[in-house]
This record gives sequence, C-alpha cells and structure tokens, in this order.
Amino acid sequence: MTHALSQTVVAKFGGTSVADFDAMNHSADVVLANKQVRLVVLSASAGVTNLLVALSEGLEATERFVKLDAIRKIQYDILERLANPLVIREEIDRLLENITTLAEAASLATSNALTDELVSHGELMSTLLFVEVLRERGEEVQWFDVRKVMRTSDRFGKAEPDIAVLAELAQTHLQPRLVESLVITQGFIGSEPKGRTTTLGRGGSDYTAALLGEALHLSQVDIWTDVPGIYTTDPRVVPAAKRIDKIAFEEAAEMATFGAKVLHPATLLPAVRSEIPVFVGCSKDPAAGGTMVCGTTENPPLFRALALRRRQTLLTLHSLSMLHSRGFLAEVFTILARHNISVDLITTSEVSVAITLDTTGSTSTGDSLLTTGLLTELSSLCRVEVEENLALVALIGNELSKACGVGKEVFGVLEPFNIRMICYGASSHNLCFLVPGGEAEDVVRKLHRNLFE
Ligand code: ADP
Ligand code: ASP
Ligand code: MG
Repeated sequence: MTHALSQTVVAKFGGTSVADFDAMNHSADVVLANKQVRLVVLSASAGVTNLLVALSEGLEATERFVKLDAIRKIQYDILERLANPLVIREEIDRLLENITTLAEAASLATSNALTDELVSHGELMSTLLFVEVLRERGEEVQWFDVRKVMRTSDRFGKAEPDIAVLAELAQTHLQPRLVESLVITQGFIGSEPKGRTTTLGRGGSDYTAALLGEALHLSQVDIWTDVPGIYTTDPRVVPAAKRIDKIAFEEAAEMATFGAKVLHPATLLPAVRSEIPVFVGCSKDPAAGGTMVCGTTENPPLFRALALRRRQTLLTLHSLSMLHSRGFLAEVFTILARHNISVDLITTSEVSVAITLDTTGSTSTGDSLLTTGLLTELSSLCRVEVEENLALVALIGNELSKACGVGKEVFGVLEPFNIRMICYGASSHNLCFLVPGGEAEDVVRKLHRNLFE
C-alpha cells in the first residue's frame, strides 16, 4: 500500500489532552475522525513533567515518595480503566521503577543529563497508555520511540535539533511506518549523538510536532490543546479575549516568542521554513473550530494580539567608559554569548545600556540564566544593576512602526502604571514594554479593553 505523505497530518496533544482516561478518549476521537492523521505526538499527562522535574532536583526520601506516588497515581488511574490493563502494566511498572532509581540518584547528585533522562519518562508513559486506548478502540497502532530520529545537540534541558540528521533519520525510520499504520510518538524528548536522552525545553512537544512535520514533508500540523484556538490574548487573563480564526506565521511567531503559551516559541520555525500550515484547536471540543496559522492573511489588522511574559529580569549596565567610546556593547555581547545567553530587549543611553535576557522556551532543568559567573564577568567591565520580577507585555500587530498615534493609544490608557522600559521600531510587528510583575495582568486587561473589545 502507498500513502501520499503530502496529504498527511501530524496531530499533537498537550498535557491536559492526555491528562486522564477520559481526556485520552476525547483525543482518540479527534485522531480517529481524521483519516489524514497518521502521526500523533504526545506530551506527558498533565502534572507529570512538573513532578519529574521536582524529583530531578534531588529530594529527601519522604518528599521523593510523595512525588513518586503522585506520578504513579496519575498513570495507574488511566491504566486501570483499560479493558485489559495487563498488556502494558509490566511496561509502565518498569518505567516507574526507572523513575524511582533515577530520582534516588538525583538525590545524591543532580545533573542536567540526569534531569532529561528522568523527565523523558512522562512522555514515554503517556504514549504507551494512549497506544492501548486506541488499540482497545480497534485501531491498528504502533508505538515509536522518537529518540531514534530526534537527533539534538547535547545541551541538556534545551537541546537544539539537528535538522538535516532528523530529516534523514525520519525518512529512514519513521516514514515507512506511517505507511503501515497510525504511529504514536513522544514530543519534547530527543537524543544527542552519543545516544543520551535530551529535551527541547518546557512546552517543547509543539516544536517536536512541527519538526517532524517538516522532516516528513507533511501537509499540516494540528496542535490540540485546552483552548479552541489562538486568542487576542490569554483567555484565562482576559475572558473577553476573542479567537483569531486566521493568522499569519509572522504574527503568531511573535505571539509565541513574547509569551503566548499556546504555542512553544520555536514551533513556527519549521512551519515557516517549509510553509506547513498549523491548526490550533481544543481536543475536548473539536467542533468549536480553531485557528489556522498560515503564510498570509487578508487585511491584517494594525493591532492583532497582546502577549505577556512573566518573570523577566532587567540588567542595567553603567560604565563611564561608554562615553564617546567604541566597543563597549561588543564586549558585553561577547560575555553574554559566552554564557549562551541571547539578549531580548535592549535600550541604551550615553553611559548605560539596559537589557532583558531571553528566557524564551525555558529549559527543562529550570536553570537560571543569571549565574554568578556571568555577573562576575560583567561586573569586571561595568556596574551592574539587576531588577527582577518584571513582566514583558507585547502588543503584536502589523505595520506598527509606520502607523501614527500608536504610542498615544497604547500608553494613554496606561497612565496609572509604571512603564519600566519600552522597545518599539525594530520590528513592524511588535511594541514591547516592561511593567512590574504584580501589575502585568491589570495592564493587559486595560489595554485589551481599549484596543480589542
Ligand atoms: P498544552 O499542554 O496543550 O501544550 P499549554 O498550557 O501549553 O497547553 O497552552 C495552552 C494555554 O495557553 C491555554 O490554556 C491558555 O491559558 C494559554 N494561552 C496564552 N496565551 C494564549 C492565547 N493568546 N490564546 C490562547 N491561549 C493562550
Ligand atoms: N511535557 C513537557 C512539559 O510539560 C513538554 C510539553 O508538554 O510540551 O513541558
Ligand atoms: Mg504547551
């Protein structure tokens, strides 16, 4: 049998969509309703990754048992509702046993490699369980270990995929399987050249789906989550937020970059490169429709959406030697690059420069970017001031830097708030500013009311 992969869809289901037996069945309904879906990418069941991350930080015995029990309960609640749990019980027990051993090792010495090995078990278990849910519904399905094809760097916690190797491995090992039957695999995890397990960073399953879509030349990436699409802002913060039915890659990528959690920030990179449309919908209510992200949209609006990124750190670097001199910024950037940090926002004055650090796609290991090593190096160059607990609000739109009156419309309504830093002009798609963390949601609500309601 041949199957044109060009008409094949990869469907990704997030943690809440595989949280329990009922959620898995709703997701199974979605898979079975579309014959074009041949590849399914899953997250761990909701809560499991957080528990595994806590274990990887090294807990004392009592706390460890509490977390292990919680993980076991989430997976057993699903297992025990299968008609025939015995088929995979041994396999799930083996993985739970591994987790116990690795958590014990982490309590003696932690490492980023150990963390990735540990957290990968969430996706391994959810995919095994989902395969059985589908089999019990009469479907022919194969479980596939994505680490066979998802080759990454060895930057544990936030590994970068090797696009060329991934394409080659996916064509060899995964493509022939899609022709045979439906394939269920893991999001988020991968393996480095020596075969050790890596992860793509928190929320990385969206990215996996898009990467596999690209590697296999699939026709669409479906992201099934707990909201029926991409909204003008997080509907949990602003219940009056409106769904965006169609949005361009560039706009959605800006939203994801600046904090709209519904898509992992890197998700749209492969989609843009390969022009694969991405659909976002709700697994519990597929009939509610969703958002289509694609190349272009007709009449894109001036103001499209608001995104919010919490826990931002602002570094202000003061140096009198910056006055009428050259090369200061180059030195600062060299230090940051050496520490693997990319700068996010930046503003400068005569003798100082303020920057925020890009925490996009946070690491699975929960590492802070602001290490003592970095601060020591910067301090040898200039006076460093650190402000924490700020939030970044981004207004996403089109041709923003060409329009008149944007500043008044945005900041006019924000009079009661302290705006700590503003970035505008580098991109025609965004206007970003920092506000105190505690006021961020109020700022978003007020701005949304004014610009979108
Ligand atoms: P999953 O586990 O399925 O990957 P996530 O929790 O990562 O789901 O992402 C879905 C969540 O993203 C929603 O519940 C919503 O609160 C949040 N979100 C943030 N910004 C937006 C937005 N602009 N539109 C829709 N959802 C958003
Ligand atoms: N399970 C991982 C996380 O919680 C990856 C994902 O859900 O996309 O971050
Ligand atoms: Mg997510």
